[in-house]
Amino acid sequence: MSITQNIQKLLTQLPQGVKLVAVSKFHPVERLQEAYDAGQRIFGENRAQELASKAPQLPTDIEWHFIGHLQKNKVRMIMPWASTIQSIDSEELLQLVNKEAARIDHHIKVLLQLHVAKEQTKSGFTTEEVLQAARNGAFHDLSNVTIAGVMAMATFTTDMEQVAREFELVHSTFLTLQSILNSPHFTEISMGMSDDWPVAVKHGATLVRIGTDIFGAREY
Ligand SMILES: *Cc1c(COP(=O)(O)O)cnc(C)c1O
Repeated sequence: MSITQNIQKLLTQLPQGVKLVAVSKFHPVERLQEAYDAGQRIFGENRAQELASKAPQLPTDIEWHFIGHLQKNKVRMIMPWASTIQSIDSEELLQLVNKEAARIDHHIKVLLQLHVAKEQTKSGFTTEEVLQAARNGAFHDLSNVTIAGVMAMATFTTDMEQVAREFELVHSTFLTLQSILNSPHFTEISMGMSDDWPVAVKHGATLVRIGTDIFGAREY
C-alpha cells in the first residue's frame, strides 16, 4: 500500500478527536511530501539535526513535533521549527526550552514525558517525580511554554496486557496532573505507535505517533 493509502486507512480507524502524528524519522523529504499531499500536517522527528534539515525543505504549515530524547545543546537548533516538544523529561530541560523560546520570541507547546516502561534506556519522569514537581509548582509561570499534556512509550513487548497496564498508568497520572495544574491547556495524551496504538486509544490517547504503518520499515 502507498503512503497515501496507509494514512487514509489509519484515519478511518482512529476515533474522532485522536490526532495522527506521522513519525517520519529516517525517511527522505520526498516521502514526507507524499504524506503532506495526502493531507497529513503533523510530523514527528526524534533527532534534532534531522528535524532542522527537513523542516525548511517542506511546506510551512506543517506542525513539527519533536519526540526524541532532547540534549540541552540541541534545544536551540530545533526551536525555530518545532511547534511541540513531546519529550520533556526533566525540569532543567523545561526551563531551558522556556528560555530558548523567549530568546527568539517563540511560543512552544510541550508534553511531559512519563517513564512507565520496563526498559531503563527509555527516558522520562517517573509518575512520582512528575506529581511531586507539579505540586512544587515546577510547571507554572513559564512565559513561553504551554504545558499541553503527557507523552509515553510502553515497554517493547508482545504482552498487550502489560502495555495496557502501562497506558492506564499514563492515563491516571494525566488525570491527577490535570487536577493539580488546573489548566485548560492540559489536554493531550500522546501514546501508541504502530504496534500498540489501538490499546493506547482505548486508554485515552489523543495523539498517536505512527511511523512504520505509514512509511514502511526504516533503514538505519
Ligand atoms: C519511532 C518512534 C515512534 C513510531 O514508531 P513505529 O513503531 O514506527 O510506529 C513513535 N514514538 C517515538 C518516540 C518514536 O521514537
